[in-house]
Amino acid sequence: MTRPELRIDETVFRRNLAVLRDRVEPSSLMLVVKDDAYGHGAGWAAETAVTAGVDWVGTYDIPTAVGLRDAIGSGPRLFAWATSADDEIAEALIAGVDLGVGSLAYLERVLAQSERVGARARIHLKIDTGLHRSGLSAGEWAHGLDRVLGHGGHANADLVGVWSHIAEASDEEDDAAHRRFLGAVDEAARAGASSPLTHLTASAATWARPELRGSLVRVGAFCYGIRSADGPELPGLAPIASLCARVEEVRDGEAVVGIGALDGIPSILAGRVDVGTPAGPRPLRAVELATVHVEAWPGAVPGDEVVLFGPGTRGESSATTLAESIDTVGEEILTRLASRVRRRHVS
Ligand SMILES: *Cc1c(COP(=O)(O)O)cnc(C)c1O
Repeated sequence: MTRPELRIDETVFRRNLAVLRDRVEPSSLMLVVKDDAYGHGAGWAAETAVTAGVDWVGTYDIPTAVGLRDAIGSGPRLFAWATSADDEIAEALIAGVDLGVGSLAYLERVLAQSERVGARARIHLKIDTGLHRSGLSAGEWAHGLDRVLGHGGHANADLVGVWSHIAEASDEEDDAAHRRFLGAVDEAARAGASSPLTHLTASAATWARPELRGSLVRVGAFCYGIRSADGPELPGLAPIASLCARVEEVRDGEAVVGIGALDGIPSILAGRVDVGTPAGPRPLRAVELATVHVEAWPGAVPGDEVVLFGPGTRGESSATTLAESIDTVGEEILTRLASRVRRRHVS
């Protein structure tokens, strides 16, 4: 029995980052590493990106950001936007983590913690531009700005950024969100903010809609070469990970491979996709708890390697192609992989 392996190619990751940095210039690239960098390893991803010149890392949660501070040093900025408990806020302020703030109640808690621990808060204030998930409403915006900029007291805080999140589903909706966003940025300038960073776009809009980019872009999926489900191919970007497992036995015209539902392979993939084998693509016939069954190929023997997804040339799918066959997204395939799947970083 060998453990299945997610083999992660650092060279391809660096190339993706270089392509993206080039494309978004003069905007800066923030690498998003939420969900353990979509299963690729947040520590590895952040450290690699920083040595490649990326100076913003977005984690979503505060503990991940605080945990990365020592590894990446004090220079690069860390951004955490999950609404968090007071003790976590305090740790973030001490570690110099930039905070995304999407409600007035959370803003008050951040300001209170910055007073308490005596550390200046670096705040990115979020305006709701139509998704209604989080963000200050248009009616709350002036008050939020006033609190951060300290007019109503002396806030121990800086307005480092103005940001929002868009659906990236239709250009019309995104354009309307962008207009609301620009209005909020103007209002911040009139309230006395000194050129805060602006950030609105994630992978899809960053790639395809340059006019929506702010001075910063937040990109997760595309850095790892995960294209959007039903989205276009991405010239210059490639998946950085291959999911590999070995044949354990060959019987009844099937290769039984040592990876299964317990490792995070969705059982409804059976009968819907091909996997890469030494002889090219072969149908995935069944998904059991600890194994998958693949149509055997001439000469199949135990120890042969099968690639469930990856950028290779033996007919393997990408994570997104697998996902499309069951109406989900590549991120979900990657983030479901169990910890028993060894992550191996190669260059
Ligand atoms: C996940 C996330 C991103 C990155 O999204 P991708 O589509 O993976 O690039 C950016 N911003 C926010 C707020 C997110 O939650």
